[in-house]
Amino acid sequence: MFQNKKFKYLVYYVAGVMALLLILNSVLKSARTEHIKYSAFEKMIEEKTIKEVQITDNQIVIIPKEQEGVSQKIKYTSNIEKTNVRPLIDKLKAADINYDGPISNNDPIKGFFVNWILPILMFMLIGRIIFGSVEKKMGSGVMSFGKNNAKIYGENETGKTFDDVAGQDEAKESLVEIVDFLHNPDKYVEIGAKLPKGALLVGPPGTGKTLLAKAVAGEAKVAFFSLSGSSFVEMFVGMGAARVRDLFKQAEEKAPCIVFIDEIDAIGKSRDSAVGGGGNDEREQTLNQLLAEMDGFDSSKGVVILAATNRPEVLDKALLRPGRFDRRVIVDTPDLKGREAILKVHAKEVKMSDDVELEGIAKSTPGAVGADLANMVNEAALLAVKKGRKAVIQEDLEEAVEIIIAGKEKKDRIMSDKEKRIVAFHEVGHALVAALLKHTDPVHKITIIPRTMGALGYTMQLPEEEKYLVSKEEMIDQITVMLGGRAAEEVEFNSISTGASNDIEKATQTARNMVTIYGMTERFDMMALESVSSRYLDGRPIRNCSDNTAALADEETLKIIKEAHDKAINMLEENRELLTAISERLIDKETLMGEEFMEMVNNFKNSEEVVEEKVSIGKDEEDTMV
Ligand code: ADP
Ligand code: MG
Ligand code: ZN
Repeated sequence: MFQNKKFKYLVYYVAGVMALLLILNSVLKSARTEHIKYSAFEKMIEEKTIKEVQITDNQIVIIPKEQEGVSQKIKYTSNIEKTNVRPLIDKLKAADINYDGPISNNDPIKGFFVNWILPILMFMLIGRIIFGSVEKKMGSGVMSFGKNNAKIYGENETGKTFDDVAGQDEAKESLVEIVDFLHNPDKYVEIGAKLPKGALLVGPPGTGKTLLAKAVAGEAKVAFFSLSGSSFVEMFVGMGAARVRDLFKQAEEKAPCIVFIDEIDAIGKSRDSAVGGGGNDEREQTLNQLLAEMDGFDSSKGVVILAATNRPEVLDKALLRPGRFDRRVIVDTPDLKGREAILKVHAKEVKMSDDVELEGIAKSTPGAVGADLANMVNEAALLAVKKGRKAVIQEDLEEAVEIIIAGKEKKDRIMSDKEKRIVAFHEVGHALVAALLKHTDPVHKITIIPRTMGALGYTMQLPEEEKYLVSKEEMIDQITVMLGGRAAEEVEFNSISTGASNDIEKATQTARNMVTIYGMTERFDMMALESVSSRYLDGRPIRNCSDNTAALADEETLKIIKEAHDKAINMLEENRELLTAISERLIDKETLMGEEFMEMVNNFKNSEEVVEEKVSIGKDEEDTMV
């Protein structure tokens, strides 16, 4: 059975050509020649209707004289015994008929050659030309049967260094060894130390995995061969494996070098059907080839394989065995310092005004990865150009943050006054609950300027410092803040809108996590009802409890949400005046900054408790208010 599609195409092509030739040959022959008996030929001589005769070893071709009603194109053939040729010639001479021959042009080999081989060769040539152009378009060798078509995967030097990768110090540290190994492999070989053949860069998208791999090659000043796992997906069966073979062959020739396989999960998915469902021959073949190549080559030659993925848990176990990608390098979402460092790296590429303060920008972008931050700096530069500035100023950066976080400002979008009121109360509801609760992040900004990404308004809260642990009280307060938007709608309008869907989803998720993952309820104590398979997967936890328990867990979740909802409503009812005052101001100004907001809150609350002024930074609250 031929798995190879290209081979199939070729078979079809050749069969088609043969059929065509067969038809052509028979049509040509039958249309122009008619076989007659020798006696009939003799009769023709007597009747003098012959113009010319061609004699070959065993056949004569008779071309008749032009005649009315008979096309001159018609020829007659007749068989002739070899011994009869001489007498025939004498006869023709006597009858004064022109003749040609005897020639032995009818030998079967030559005939076969002329009738079959030559046309086939011609068709092959034409086919080559046609397929050749298709091949170029499709970027893979249709006619090359998976042979080495010498595609170059490498760039000689990437030109990137570790300095280009900011905020990934731990990852860099674990890769320094590999750089050193590539610099002088002899040092390691002498002692007999075996370096890992491959390292797997693991982390969320945009954190700089590809960049890091290039930086390793750049630091070591070696060639960099790269291949993306996803590029195998649309390839012909068998091509993936051929490419892998090809890649390693080239790499070995160019050692020392780095082979980088990006998005390796596309080919390295677990082969058992539990993950991903159903087999995929092509992927499996490619994976097998990759495993074979990794086992086959000698790492002392100086070929190091790096691979990147954001879903390590779906990888086939075989890939992670010793001697393969046994070393993992975590490339995580950067923290505050990391973000500042990344911003600094990218700020070098654009003209920045001197008073730009990157720390503030880093503070207002928790959760952003390197790619986002690079994007922000570029966006800020574009804004500066648009506003006719020579250098990027802080304001541009701040606007860029908002663009990246919440989508572009869409000032021309018109909301009805009624909608605007609802959105304003909703957002102030979030903000006010946040301000009145103890364990919450300070409000940084409230706005009702619609964004393209679906949020009609948002309240931005920013933590004062990076947090790694969240307490139960904080989680409950977070939920209360999330529900504050809807609560405000209820308090003010006594009716509710669809605008809280995002809040509801987030609040439910947080409450559920408290119950099932963090052991924060009395009922379930410290029992895990769900386990998070991996933070890099879609983050969806897997339930591991009985249906009954699950139902109880739902109840507990609902209880938390209900309590928080009631609390939010009570708080807003108690502070109804304040809610209205701030909302009116927001409708007026469309955007309120944290300080202004806190001032209003404090003025109102002066007599009662003093709400401490908190200065800003962190999670943003987004709503789709339709
Ligand atoms: P990944 O491969 O992890 O998805 P990339 O390496 O492709 O991410 O990152 C995309 C871009 O984001 C890079 O080209 C770079 O401009 C920027 N970037 C990402 N992480 C960093 C970082 N740690 N330092 C500097 N720039 C970064
Ligand atoms: Mg990448
Ligand atoms: Zn909301």
